[in-house]
Parts: sequence; structure tokens; C-alpha cells
Amino acid sequence: MSNPADYFSKRQEIVIELIRQLVERETNSRDEVRLDEIAEYIAGLFAEIGGVIRLDKQPGYGTHLRAGFGFDREDGGKQLLVLGHLDTVWPLGTLQRIPFRITKEGTAHGPGIFDMKSGVAMLIESLRAIKTLGLETRRPVMVLLTCDEEIGSRTSRPIIEEEAARSSAALVLEPPVTGGIVKTGRKGVGNFTVRALGRAAHAGLDPGKGINAIVELAHQTLSLAALNDSQNGVTINVGVINGGTTQNVVPAEASAIVDVRFINPADGERIERSIRNLAPVLKDARLEVTGGINRPPMPRSEKNIALFELARSLAAEIGFDLKDQVVGGGSDGNFTAAMGVPTLDGLGVDGAGAHAEHEHIIISDIPRRTALLTRLLQTV
Ligand SMILES: [Zn+2]
Repeated sequence: MSNPADYFSKRQEIVIELIRQLVERETNSRDEVRLDEIAEYIAGLFAEIGGVIRLDKQPGYGTHLRAGFGFDREDGGKQLLVLGHLDTVWPLGTLQRIPFRITKEGTAHGPGIFDMKSGVAMLIESLRAIKTLGLETRRPVMVLLTCDEEIGSRTSRPIIEEEAARSSAALVLEPPVTGGIVKTGRKGVGNFTVRALGRAAHAGLDPGKGINAIVELAHQTLSLAALNDSQNGVTINVGVINGGTTQNVVPAEASAIVDVRFINPADGERIERSIRNLAPVLKDARLEVTGGINRPPMPRSEKNIALFELARSLAAEIGFDLKDQVVGGGSDGNFTAAMGVPTLDGLGVDGAGAHAEHEHIIISDIPRRTALLTRLLQTV
């Protein structure tokens, strides 16, 4: 094939139509039925181009979709893993407010289009091209599209790790940093709930009998904020606070939801210990801590850098400059990278606004990005 981007440019309308199909199937992480449906739908598309399908239904969640390509050659070598997710953060009905639309500036909008329906469409198109043009992938390719990434990958993590253990590398179709910048490192992520328990009492008649859980939690909030260490990439965000019942009652209960991010695993362990060991300040108040670290960091390792350098040289052949960055957000790439599997993340279509109202992709980026993915499938 000459420049593969030219091939995909000619198919631009077909790819955009596929993106529209995926965006218009709304798939919030909690919408089990719709997640099952989209997995079935995409399984059908993969089956048409020779994919061997496996659907893992997760009761109470959706369905994880695996599609294997090129496993019939049995050379005993490792596979290449391509990871994505089918769920979005958007509640059902968002499409009415933010319909799929293409602007004259060359952007396409819609819930989940950037994170990451366009990445999934690109993958389908890329595998279709490999089939149609009779190209060979270097290794058997295992596609894994999960249904619970946006809610912490609780049910998919064992499957991701099972496939990663068989893989020479992992390509992750999450959106890039705006500018098309791929991700070679990610912070680890933890979520905690800190619950303060006091004692209720009438605020006017019996204030001395009460223990104010909100005051207790205010002390703890300041202690948590003091754990921030921006120099070492450690952030602690008390993001939600709840507590109390009404203004004339000393509150018996209050709770905080806390987001933790870190680069070094040791920092994650240290912060987790500090949060678990928080001590009550008010006499007779109690604290309960639940949660923990749910994504290990994805370090910008030598292996990740080598995979990125390969991608960069392929991008240069196609005619664009690929850059990389380490980011604070977690993804399923954290799991594969933490196992020592070379991981390149952020391979989706350029755009902006993941999880935000202005979520969009840049249409002109689709052909070269699909070409890059195709070249990676042929080379890695
Ligand atoms: Zn995502």
C-alpha cells in the first residue's frame, strides 16, 4: 500500500457513518441492556471480517467483547492486545441535547464520540482494511472492548490482565491529549470514602450532648488536603462532601469522597496508609475509611518509550509528527503497563472535551490516525 492515509481518506464518509452509528447507540456504564446490544452489534461487524468472537456477559453490568484475528496460524508466539471500552459517562437521553452533528469547522460532536466511540470505529475500519487489502498483522491480534472502564473496570480487570499476560504489547484506543498526543505514562488512581461518625443532639436544647460529625470531617478534610505533594505528582482531591440532616440538629454523620493520584507506587502506598490511619480530632468521634487504590500507575518505562518511538517512526512515514505525554488520568492501560507489557495509550482520534459538553473529534485526523493504527497492527 502506498500511503495508507490516502486509502482511509477515500473511505472517510463510511467511517463517519460508522462513528455516527456508535454514538447514536447511547451506552452509559450503568445501562446494561444497551451495553449488551452494542457489544452484539460490534461483534457482528468483527465477525464479518473474520474475527472469532467471545462475549462475556457480566450480570448487573454489560458485556465484554473479545474478537481474535489471525489465531489460525498457530506460530506459538505472543498476541498483540488492542484495548478499548464501549461505555461512556453520559446518561441516556444526552443525545437529545447533544445530537451527533458535523460542523463546518470540521469537527464531529456527540456523547462519547471522543471517549471513545471514534476510536472503536477506527479499529473496525483498520481491521476491515487489513482483511480487504489482504495485509498481514505481525502477530495474532486480540481485540478487547470492555463495558465498565468509566466506573473503574471492576469486572473487566481480570480479563484485561488475562489477555495482557499473553500479549507482546498493548495498544489502547483512548482519546489522545488534544493535539493528537499519545500517552506513554499515566498516574495511578485511588478512591476513598472517609466517613465521620459523631452523635446527634438538639442544637438548641442539648448541644453539649452532641458530637458534630461535620466539624470532625472538616478537620479531616484539611488533613487530607495537606497530603498534596505536587512536586512528586501526588494529588488528593476531596471532591464530594455530604453530612447532616437539618440546621437545628448536631450532625451524627458526614462523609467525604476523595480522589488520589500518584506517579510512584510507593507514594500510592504511603498515601493509602495515611488515609487509613486518619485519627479523629473530636473526643468520642469515630472515622470509617473505605476504598483504596484501583489503578496502579503506568510508568513511562523504557518499554513504553520504545513502543512509542516505533509508532513515531510509522507516523513520520505516513506524514505526521507524533508526540507523547504523561497524564494524570487513568485507563485500562494502567493495568497492562503495570504488568510490564509495553503499552501505548491515547491512540484514538484527535479532539477535545472528554466527559465534557464540548466533547468532539477533528474529522481530518481520522485517516492518518487509522493509517497509524493499521501500520502498528502490521508491525508490533
Ligand atoms: Zn475512555
